[in-house]
Amino acid sequence: MMLVFGSSGQVATELRERLPDAVFLGREEADLSVHTNIGGIIEEIGPAAIINAAAYTAVDKAEEEEALALKLNAQAPAEMAKAAARLSIPLVHISTDYVFDGSGETAFAPDAGTAPLGAYGRTKLKGEQAIVAAAPVYAILRTSWVFSAHGANFLKTMLRLSETRDHLTIVADQIGGPTPASAIAEACVKIARSLAADPSKAGTYHFSGVPEVSWADFAREIFRQAGRSVAVEDIPTSAYPTPAKRPLNSRLDCRSLAAFELNRPDWKDGVADTLAKLGVTS
Ligand code: NDP
Repeated sequence: MMLVFGSSGQVATELRERLPDAVFLGREEADLSVHTNIGGIIEEIGPAAIINAAAYTAVDKAEEEEALALKLNAQAPAEMAKAAARLSIPLVHISTDYVFDGSGETAFAPDAGTAPLGAYGRTKLKGEQAIVAAAPVYAILRTSWVFSAHGANFLKTMLRLSETRDHLTIVADQIGGPTPASAIAEACVKIARSLAADPSKAGTYHFSGVPEVSWADFAREIFRQAGRSVAVEDIPTSAYPTPAKRPLNSRLDCRSLAAFELNRPDWKDGVADTLAKLGVTS
């Protein structure tokens, strides 16, 4: 039986559909921002593997709540990793492209130098480092631009805006791979099972959708598939100031995923699936 941290988040919801027998702990069951005995909870449940889909994900708010983000994104995963090491069970942990500074135009390999631009990325990087230090059988799966029919994400924001707007200005100089939460969930399950059978596959991996695009082109495809006539105007990041600085280059080199026989998902198919789940037809 697997233990999943997170219950109603984007990835956690997709995990729920795939793991009917798993135990899910959302913030109602175990508030990771205040909990002092995460290891004890894990030992009491005695799972065969842990998937951590819980996180502090509010990128801009993290700039003013870094201590809280640190608890969720680093201190809690550290406790999960220590417990996983004690119990000799795999830990699959989801991380982010925001651990990189986004320089250059080539894809970041899993062992590329990290240099987060903001508080969210800093706390996620500390989480990764704590997991590696605790040395369980782990997989850190860095992903990017997550979307699904659940929770808050860019696709849902675009659909909402399309109800009232026929023209939007969208950032066109940040490039990345939009990734369906469903594909991340599938990857997590496959990786957890594979690690249990072969702990030598432990390590840090990248997983994001193809083809890589700008936010503006991502929006255009969402509107095309949803049959919404919204004109998208390209703007540079400098014209859309946010509290947290974002990486311009979020391309992730995902080739090492072959170890788990995983392919990169086509995000356009993911958009179609998500629109179908939301009941949006063109
Ligand atoms: P969501 O924001 O949709 O969900 C966050 C999850 O964290 C929820 O399940 C929530 O619990 C849980 N959580 C939040 N606060 C607490 C708390 N105090 N105590 C316990 N649990 C809490 O996240 P996503 O599904 O989008 O993200 C999954 C992973 O992917 C995260 O590690 C994130 O960093 C990473 N990621 C996300 C990206 C994105 O674009 N969203 C991009 C790159 C990486 P509950 O179920 O109870 O609500």
